[in-house]
Formats: sequence, C-alpha cells, structure tokens
Amino acid sequence: MEGARFIKVEAHRGDLRWPLPQDFTQRLQGRGVERLERRAKYLLADLSSGEVLIMHLGMSGSFRVIELTRIHRPGRYYHAQPQRSAHDHVVFHMSSGALISFNDPRRFGMMKLVPRSELEQEPLLRALGPEPLAREFDATMLARLCKGKRTSLKAALSDQRVVAGLGNIYVCEALHRARLSPMRRASSIATRAGRPNERTGVLVQAIKAVLRAAIEAGGSSLRDHRRTDGALGDFQHNFRVYDRAGKPCPRPACPGTIKRVVQTGRATFFCPICQK
Ligand SMILES: [Zn+2]
Repeated sequence: MEGARFIKVEAHRGDLRWPLPQDFTQRLQGRGVERLERRAKYLLADLSSGEVLIMHLGMSGSFRVIELTRIHRPGRYYHAQPQRSAHDHVVFHMSSGALISFNDPRRFGMMKLVPRSELEQEPLLRALGPEPLAREFDATMLARLCKGKRTSLKAALSDQRVVAGLGNIYVCEALHRARLSPMRRASSIATRAGRPNERTGVLVQAIKAVLRAAIEAGGSSLRDHRRTDGALGDFQHNFRVYDRAGKPCPRPACPGTIKRVVQTGRATFFCPICQK
C-alpha cells in the first residue's frame, strides 16, 4: 500500500463494527498512501488527501494481500483473480498491482477516516499508553506508570493506558520470562518514588523479547489470526505458560506445574513456583 494509490475501492456492505465513513470509497479512490503505520492495535494509512485511514482488525478480521502482477498471465488476467469470500467486506485495488481484501466474519473490525490534523485528539488513540517496542519504553517509564498502582501486575500490563497493544497472551508469557507473579501488586515493580527497582528492567526486557519473538514467528494463531498471505502464525508452539495449565513449567530445573486462574475476567497462566 505504501507509495501506491487506491485505483478502486469496493465496500460490500455499509458497516463493520460501526458504519463505514460517509462517501467511504470516493474519499479513498485516486488517493495515495504516503505512509503506513501502526499505533497499538490500530493500522494507520496516511493519505495524500490529508486524511488518515484508521483500521482495526477487531476479533476476527484479517487483511489478505494478493500481488496480481505476480500471478498475471497474458490473456488470463481475469481468471487469475481470486474468488471473493462472503466475508471480504472491503477490497482495495492498489496502483502497485496489489489486491488487498479485508475479511471479517464477526465484524468487530472498523475503518474510520479522520483529518491528519485531528489525529492527536482522536478518541480511539488519545488515551493509549506507550508502544512496548519503542525505545522510550524503558524501566524508568514503566516504573513511573506503575507507581502507587494497587491493581495486580497482570491487570496493569493489560491496561492499554499503561502500555499499548500488549494482549493477554503476551502479558502471561512476559511475566513468566521475568519470573514475576501476575498477582503481585503493580506498584511492587517500582520504588515508592516511582523509580525502577531490581524487577523493572527485567520485566521491560521480557516484554520486548516476547513481542520480538512473536513477530519473528508471524504471531500466534489460536482462532482467527492469519498473516497477510493467509498463512498461520507459529508462535503458539512457543508458549511457555499460555494455554498450558497442568503441564510442567518449561523453566529448566523448575518442578512447578502451570496453573490457570481468572483475573479481571481474563485467563491467566503462570508457574506458582518460579514466578514470585
Ligand atoms: Zn516454574
């Protein structure tokens, strides 16, 4: 998409989670994508019109990218077009030759157009915490964010206002790597003054490591997640605690058994022996 123009946009229904923006296809057609970014779980396409297309996959949404030029055969162009699925709600035809379809069976995904100048005030993005892979997300920042917090460490890390885009799986996995109990108070990873203590840096490194490893593996495919070529992610095979209740703790020499508990409505998996 980056550097390409929307040649044609198909919207096969008027709504996803919310109605599509007014004149949605007309506002995209002919416009260029100057930059593609991500903020938390939102995808942002900066358009030549001065608007930003905000996209979210919701629960079951996925983008498939088909490079039409790659499968183009002289005289057989139309046969090369892939069959449209019933849940391909929005299809972008790009000047780069790519056909990009947004498929979303449960329709919790969304697309919204906002002027770039109003992005800072956008309610969907305004309250989000720092990006966990950004350089400025370090022990000093995490300590300040957790200072005085009486909630559990698990709940704090799952809160998008504390750190953006960390899902349930990756919080569980990071806490195991950092040997920290999901039940301990969030404030216990900082001093009273909100400075880092011996746990903060270890946790920050664990969060970054687990996210990098998951990205490298193409994400975790439990139900709906697919890569843009339709392939499954692989990281679910590398879980140390998530969805492993009753299994032995993978930490060498740890005699623990993975336990499942429910915290703030979400399943937590951890080892009660090596996570303190
Ligand atoms: Zn253990």
